[in-house]
Amino acid sequence: MNDKSLVNQIIEVLPQLQCKKCEYPDCSSYAQSLIEKKEKTNKCEPGGLKTENHIQEILAGKTYRSTQQIKKYEVADIVREECIGCTICIKVCPVDAIVGARHMIHKVLEHQCNGCELCIEECPVNCMSMITPQEQNTWSWPSKQSENSKEKYYQRLDRLDRIKKDKELNRQRVLEDRDMDDYIQYALDTESKKHAKIKKYE
Ligand code: SF4
Ligand code: SF4
Ligand code: SF4
Repeated sequence: MNDKSLVNQIIEVLPQLQCKKCEYPDCSSYAQSLIEKKEKTNKCEPGGLKTENHIQEILAGKTYRSTQQIKKYEVADIVREECIGCTICIKVCPVDAIVGARHMIHKVLEHQCNGCELCIEECPVNCMSMITPQEQNTWSWPSKQSENSKEKYYQRLDRLDRIKKDKELNRQRVLEDRDMDDYIQYALDTESKKHAKIKKYE
């Protein structure tokens, strides 16, 4: 089996929280590192021992696909009265599960929150906490739930990439405009110098 298909198999047994608790930016980077750098198999804390066993089975050449579940699944919540609308939580949420605008109260979309906890520490006024979800009370994978989470994560990455490229394009345009302004100014200066010379001989 080639490395790419091993990585893909390992991704399947990871919870898709993109929570960085393994010290990698996302589940896929951890899976890659398990193959390429022989990273330890016990670094996915939310997956726990079961996930570690699944990873080891895959590395030993067995195909593995069984549903796993997080032991204690919770989602983020915001105390509305205390939120100052700083937008920090929106920026750190890997799956766009928080809505709000600057200086406005923010809200967690429970059905989209995967419980990664990344937002909790970032809130400057400590108005976020993890609570028992009202609707779905478990996080399992592989499942529609984990697939959605993965999809949202990659959609977000694409969007951020597009924004970065647009910014770079705008920066280039501003520089080009500046060059054009400089050129126009140079042409005007040269013309007025010429006129001044001509006037001398008139
Ligand atoms: S769910 Fe596991 S593998 Fe994925 S980012 Fe979190 S710790 Fe890493
Ligand atoms: S709302 Fe918070 S806990 Fe939920 S997915 Fe986003 S960052 Fe993670
Ligand atoms: S980080 Fe906290 S204060 Fe800032 S918008 Fe989010 S919930 Fe509100």
